[in-house]
Amino acid sequence: MSELRLSDIKGVGPARLKALHEAGIDTVSALLAYLPREYRDLSRVRPLGELCAGDEAAVRVRVSGGAAVHRAGKLLVIKARVSDDSDTMSAVWYNQPWLKETLVPGREFLLYGKVEARFGELQLVCPAFETGEGLKPVYKPLAGITPRVLQQTILAALDAQDGQYEETLPETLRRRYGLCERNCALRNAHCPLNHDALAAARRRLAFEELLFFQVGLWLMRGTKREGVMIDCPDARADEYWKTLPFTPTNAQRRVLCEVLSDMRAPFPMARLVQGDVGSGKTAIAFAAMYAAVRGGWQCALMAPTEILAAQHYESAQRLLEPLGIRCGLLTGSLTPKNKRLAHEAIASGEWQAVIGTHALITESVAYNHLGLVITDEQHRFGVRQRTLFSEKGSSPNVLVMSATPIPRTLSLILYGDLDISVVDELPPGRTPVQTRIVPEKKRNDMYGFLRAQVQAGRQIYVVCPLIEESEAVDAKPAEVIYEELRTKYLPDLRVALVHGRMKSADKEETLNAFHAGEIDVLVSTTVIEVGVNVPNASVMVIENAERFGLAQLHQLRGRVGRGAAMSYCFLMAEPNERLRLLTRTNDGFEIAQKDMELRGPGELLGQRQSGVMSLGAGAALSDTALLKETHDAARELLRSPNSEDARAVITRAEALFAERLHDVAMN
Ligand code: ADP
Ligand code: MG
Repeated sequence: MSELRLSDIKGVGPARLKALHEAGIDTVSALLAYLPREYRDLSRVRPLGELCAGDEAAVRVRVSGGAAVHRAGKLLVIKARVSDDSDTMSAVWYNQPWLKETLVPGREFLLYGKVEARFGELQLVCPAFETGEGLKPVYKPLAGITPRVLQQTILAALDAQDGQYEETLPETLRRRYGLCERNCALRNAHCPLNHDALAAARRRLAFEELLFFQVGLWLMRGTKREGVMIDCPDARADEYWKTLPFTPTNAQRRVLCEVLSDMRAPFPMARLVQGDVGSGKTAIAFAAMYAAVRGGWQCALMAPTEILAAQHYESAQRLLEPLGIRCGLLTGSLTPKNKRLAHEAIASGEWQAVIGTHALITESVAYNHLGLVITDEQHRFGVRQRTLFSEKGSSPNVLVMSATPIPRTLSLILYGDLDISVVDELPPGRTPVQTRIVPEKKRNDMYGFLRAQVQAGRQIYVVCPLIEESEAVDAKPAEVIYEELRTKYLPDLRVALVHGRMKSADKEETLNAFHAGEIDVLVSTTVIEVGVNVPNASVMVIENAERFGLAQLHQLRGRVGRGAAMSYCFLMAEPNERLRLLTRTNDGFEIAQKDMELRGPGELLGQRQSGVMSLGAGAALSDTALLKETHDAARELLRSPNSEDARAVITRAEALFAERLHDVAMN
């Protein structure tokens, strides 16, 4: 059967086609895979009197007072009293002046929205005007196509072809894992009959997505064969450790042995090294580079930011150059002339250890006998970048490092094609960071403590979620915190500000000054999240801590506690259970697991990585049981790759995976 095209769908003319195309939806299957972001339960209308702050609910109300309009800064606020038989509440909308005409006293509406406690009362904030009943799908908005039209188009696509889309999962598999048929799943995902049908639909689609993703990853690994073999006996490890000013931890020794034995083997290494911030992964990476260069090969280390790359380069000059290894730095900000010189030094092999940013994988860079590639903070890169990097050599050894502890089930999926080593020990002498939740009323006491710390010679980070005032978010921005500290709370201290929108030269200058001890208090956005290493900074204050994920907070506090001094992390927020976990444990894996359960894996991994997954499976990644089931199913299938079932799945996985990697590369 020839495949149905988007333009064959009822109602899809050139304008809609163009809008869909611009959103990356080029086929009917891509359209059907555009699953709702959430569902509004309009069948459950709740009485106002029963609602609490934080609830999201459908309410049937009547406007009890005319709408008032006023300005608050850049915002135009429309506010009306609404009531039902149980209670009365305010509802507010922003920048929608036409609503004044709609909100006529006495009229009734079905509203759906969030309840928040504001100005000492409960308010409905920006509720949507709804009609209908049952479970209403809500799609992530697409530019150039209204939500209603999008929904109509999807329904028309479901109805086309008599609703008969090809089944993609073998029947035996569906039966074994209790999965509903594909057409039924698609229909109920977009237009659910009831909660049970929706749950079955989502399970089926998530299963499918995860299964194909895992099979794809396994295939990617399977295609690699012989690769670079490096002559690097274990003795190289001891040679290297002896040159360091400290003794390696047992975990560092063990992981390096695993790495060296991979590099010696006739197939290329593909290994992920995971370890908490400060566990000493960099030392392992440098040891591997040392061994590779001694074995006669070039190596390259890629970091996600210029600052981090520069820091690694400095360490390389300190740790590798004295051992006779020629190191160089290549980043996007080099002048054209220096870039050309760098390219030459790389191509000629003059640089044996090359350190840099994404610039390392641009097309024009040619390597010389590249035997080992390393990516630092892997979660910032996608699978595609990793692949591009290794394609720079002929099957070089690949080492990836990540400080984001990823729960084991999840790493099986995301890094299904990698072996994993965990650096599960911190260097001795580290005092664990003391973490406290500080409510607003204790703010002044805390500043007293900060001043005492600075007098004792320490330095302080203050991290904020935002740079400047925002309409949508109720949080103090870095600029305001900075001004307050400088003029009001700590005028006697040297306070500086750094954020992601500054020019990188300015940013670097400020960070360098902080590094040199010329700044006492550094206010920043999360630009310091990765990498920066200032052992003398022993206190971190995190403003609006409730706005960050647990894993990110844990990552942030890893910036302190790097020296011998007692170190502290203050979470500015009203105490809650979620944040309390951080005061109780320093175990990154436990924290990551909790974070994933609470917020889903997309947040944990960042945009790039989750871009590999479509929305549907992204949500399913937090479902540990489903991860395990699909992992088992994939293994089972690949055990007999020539069976009819396995062949069907493999063919489809190959096609999907090629497409997906292409998409990621385009982002
Ligand atoms: P990671 O990359 O895992 O976050 P780093 O490799 O940057 O950690 O190490 C953090 C700090 O600890 C660095 O200053 C490093 O020199 C130091 N360090 C690493 N290993 C040890 C060790 N075994 N003993 C003492 N200090 C160490
Ligand atoms: Mg590191």
